[in-house]
Amino acid sequence: MYLTETHLQVRDMARDFADQVIRPVAEELDREEKFPAGLYDEMAKLGLFGIGVPEALGGPGFDTLTYALVMEELSRGYASVADQCGLLELISTLLVRHGTPAQQALLGDILSMKTKVAYCITEPEAGTDVSGIRTTAVADGEGWILNGGKIWIHNAPVADLAFVLARTDKEAGNRGMSIFIVDLHSAGVTRGPKEHKMGQRASQVGGLDFKDVRLGAGALLGQPGRGFHMMMSVLDKGRVGIAALAVGIAQAGLEAAVDYAGQRRQFGKSISEFQGVQWLLADMARDIEAARLLVQSAAVKIDRGEDATKACSMAKCFAGDMAVQRTADAVQVFGGSGYIRGFEVERLYRDAKITQIYEGTQQIQRMIIARELLKKGARS
Ligand SMILES: Cc1cc2nc3c(=O)[nH]c(=O)nc-3n(C[C@H](O)[C@H](O)[C@H](O)COP(=O)(O)OP(=O)(O)OC[C@H]3O[C@@H](n4cnc5c(N)ncnc54)[C@H](O)[C@@H]3O)c2cc1C
Repeated sequence: MYLTETHLQVRDMARDFADQVIRPVAEELDREEKFPAGLYDEMAKLGLFGIGVPEALGGPGFDTLTYALVMEELSRGYASVADQCGLLELISTLLVRHGTPAQQALLGDILSMKTKVAYCITEPEAGTDVSGIRTTAVADGEGWILNGGKIWIHNAPVADLAFVLARTDKEAGNRGMSIFIVDLHSAGVTRGPKEHKMGQRASQVGGLDFKDVRLGAGALLGQPGRGFHMMMSVLDKGRVGIAALAVGIAQAGLEAAVDYAGQRRQFGKSISEFQGVQWLLADMARDIEAARLLVQSAAVKIDRGEDATKACSMAKCFAGDMAVQRTADAVQVFGGSGYIRGFEVERLYRDAKITQIYEGTQQIQRMIIARELLKKGARS
């Protein structure tokens, strides 16, 4: 993949930051399930949030390929940190595309992490099938009244502002949903307990409940009734981000496995001399590179304004499955040590699993790929 001087500079800056600042604390963040506020402050100063936000709105204005490069490097340090970057990219993309000037003015505090945000679609009865959401916003005078609840929302335990998908017209199906910007310190908002997860444990995930929450007219983002389509329209980019995150996890596993294979001795030799171990390493490197190229190719399609839906789903599906399989191989290279808490590969294997579930499950990615193939042909 052709990378410009700027791509390489930004990637190397993110790589150095991941090596020097993120990776050394990843084990502690995972163990303590800690929200790394100080680390995010440093990232904000380096401009690592809101990568695609235009300069006129206070961002660096980089392309999607740069975003993918940054996500891989941050995730190589620790996936929870990359996940925060991905969340801010989604929210800022929504604001850039659909926000009023007053709403876009929120970007400054969001990108500096003074205001922490959450992106709220999922409900108990609406996971993959977003059309099942029951949260409602009913027009009231000039504003709205919000009722309902969301689950498994990234940042919910710490967020100040939520971007909430709610039903505004019960009869209009997917055209009856709208997005609202909700101050989570308002009366009527309660937070559920923080969830304890298998992996990406520094990401704070929980529920939000809304009971007669009063919203002003300025809380509506974009056109009423267009919320579903607006949320879906940022998913291509979101999938590239999660695919890059999956590549970063697997890359960290490969690096750890190569180092360990060179150090560990059995039968009087380094285990790296055994072909069985070499093949594990070779397959890891091969599949990581294949996933990386799928991710970068999908990102370039977005940047060129081409139809990128199939490419983004293929990248997310392949990279997520690859990350689970190849971090399992990293555990295998470590033998029993790979199964013990405190060894990086044990965490990486746990961190990889969610990449098959969030941002659209792997089953849904396959449905999208098949739908695009059957609609547009096998050469599309
Ligand atoms: C750690 C974490 C962080 C999250 N962060 C957020 C967040 O910030 N904001 C947010 O809104 N949500 C978030 N989610 C929710 C996440 O997006 C959902 O879990 C995901 O969309 C799947 O929904 P579900 O869990 O209800 O599974 P379900 O939709 O119940 O699916 C269960 C199984 O059925 C399969 N399935 C469903 N429908 C079909 C079909 N038509 N064909 C074939 N198979 C199908 C699925 O692939 C899956 O294997 C998060 C979840 C987790 C665990």
